[in-house]
Amino acid sequence: MHWSQFFIPTSKETPKDATAASHVLMLRAGLIRQVAAGVYCYLPLGYRTLRKVEAIVREEMNRAGAIELHMSVLMPLEWWQQTGRTDAMGDTLLRLGGPVGDWRSQTVLGPTHEEQVVDIARAFLGSYKQLPVNLYQIQTKFRGEARPKSGVLRTREFLMKDAYSFHADKASLDEGYQKMYDAYCRIFGRCGLPYVAVEADSGPIGGDSSHEFMVLTDAGEDTVAISENGDYAANTERATAFFEARGHEATKGRSPESSPAAAEPLREVHTPGAGRVEDVCKVLGTAPAQMIKTLIYTVTRAEPQAQARGAASEPQAPARGSSAPASRLVALVRGDHDVNEIKLRKAARQLCGAANAAIEMADARTIEELTGAKVGFAGPQGIIERFREGDMLVIDRDVTAMSSAASGANKTDYHVTGVNPGRDFPLAPDDRCPRVLVADVRMVVDGDLSPRGSGSPIRLKTAIEVGHVFKLGTKYSDAMNATFLTREGKPARFIMGCYGIGLNRIVAAAIEANHDDNGIIWPMSIAPFEAVVVALDPRDDHAMGVAAGLYSELAAAGVDVLFDARDERAGFKFKDADLVGVPLRVVVGKKSLAEGVVEWSHRKDQVKHTLPPAQAAQHIAALVREARGS
Ligand code: ATP
Ligand code: MG
Repeated sequence: MHWSQFFIPTSKETPKDATAASHVLMLRAGLIRQVAAGVYCYLPLGYRTLRKVEAIVREEMNRAGAIELHMSVLMPLEWWQQTGRTDAMGDTLLRLGGPVGDWRSQTVLGPTHEEQVVDIARAFLGSYKQLPVNLYQIQTKFRGEARPKSGVLRTREFLMKDAYSFHADKASLDEGYQKMYDAYCRIFGRCGLPYVAVEADSGPIGGDSSHEFMVLTDAGEDTVAISENGDYAANTERATAFFEARGHEATKGRSPESSPAAAEPLREVHTPGAGRVEDVCKVLGTAPAQMIKTLIYTVTRAEPQAQARGAASEPQAPARGSSAPASRLVALVRGDHDVNEIKLRKAARQLCGAANAAIEMADARTIEELTGAKVGFAGPQGIIERFREGDMLVIDRDVTAMSSAASGANKTDYHVTGVNPGRDFPLAPDDRCPRVLVADVRMVVDGDLSPRGSGSPIRLKTAIEVGHVFKLGTKYSDAMNATFLTREGKPARFIMGCYGIGLNRIVAAAIEANHDDNGIIWPMSIAPFEAVVVALDPRDDHAMGVAAGLYSELAAAGVDVLFDARDERAGFKFKDADLVGVPLRVVVGKKSLAEGVVEWSHRKDQVKHTLPPAQAAQHIAALVREARGS
């Protein structure tokens, strides 16, 4: 392909509003063009890379035994109502709209395809003999993302590979899940991504049944906790730290430090206007780790039965008008820790026995009503005496190890010191309060130790989620009554797994992980062009002849090669090649030809090498083949 005949609209300008390197470089290298917020079109160069990513994904999915199909983007709203996901997805689910009764009002654009694939399974997979099956597609998804961000990393229209597996039993699901996990490792490895698989939150289903594939880069929106020795990696949504239980006293209602000899008495201190942890610490001369933070939430339960897993995060509170009366939840964490609301929601669900309970920070009125004080002065001591039926107390594990701590006094402008878990508030359910739970409900912090017990410190890193594998269980087959006949001839619900990869995110993440100040450095496997032959002076007939010959030879050897014989300065052409990230460059010029050689270099290190022209094509083609991997 001649550079001048292809479509490569490079630009020197750094686009306004673009901060992520991948966003800037995809625009500058002429890979994409923005159409609207969160909507991009792929220009020819960008599309070549996207197609290569797609080919790798397809090859590895086929190799893993998955079967490709192509589902429709338009589908009936009714399916989504059946699985409860019209509520769970909220505005993320795009509807066509139109007047009531019109077909448009009953139609949605697919953000993911569990409903449609379950409909296929219930129609065609009648017997255990047909299982397991893994069906996948590579298709455009539509999501009403509230905040599209960072170029193609988060858009409202994007290309996803989504796969769904159907199994007769749990063992078969485990096997299918592992196959997909392994295929994902091959896919991301082949795409040149430095990825890590991390334990992910599995939403309402629970259990260790979900992994996200993450690329560590500052442009990501996720945070992962990784131990220095690599024995632990998890999304901070679910990450946990090492905790040494100090016997069973704590959970029985008495902490070891609460023995009368060790425990200080409660003492009230006037702390006018000091509602925040730092301010209180200053007045009391204590450290945040010596304070108990008391946070108050309301817990509501949505009436419709459990929501199915949403592609979007679950809503924090159910729709108005559909909830039972709210109870109050008091959460205690150390002053230097933050509550993890996903964990806290799980604790709340456990305490009230409702799988669909949602939590929300309480408003000022609720807090004042419960504590008898202004916001900022809540404390755990004596709080359960103020509880109504249904209220709950959740204590983070680390709080149980504290003694003589400081906290709010449940009195405006006052704090207390000498607060002792077990003595001043219960650590287990008792007659006064049946809903008390000690659990891990905090966010991990940098420097926490690995929960594996190795003593290795945890580091927090930002990352891009490029893929997600997930054991669904019978969530969707239950909701849509999808059954097959077992060996014994009895109907049973399909056990499912689902597996997603964002193709556009692979492209952007590859750039985030592989670029320098001059532009993109494509991994060979997904480079739009693998090599470029630059003719330094197109008016020099001899050099042009050699360059054109080399180009033809490389093309004939199956290399995706560009021929840059534009009538431009050498520096200009080199800059363009660097920006669009061609992995190998061959330069043909009068001077080197006089010495009987052509020059070549890797985009990565720019180190110049020379070769006689007659050997160049063969050598470069071999380098390309080797770097492609497979
Ligand atoms: P996120 O948490 O980033 O919103 P998700 O958990 O909603 O993603 P899944 O439903 O698991 O995403 O979708 C599978 C894959 O699709 C993700 O791992 C990601 O690579 C990709 N993806 C999801 N949403 C988007 C989006 N808005 N734009 C581009 N790619 C996306
Ligand atoms: Mg996900």
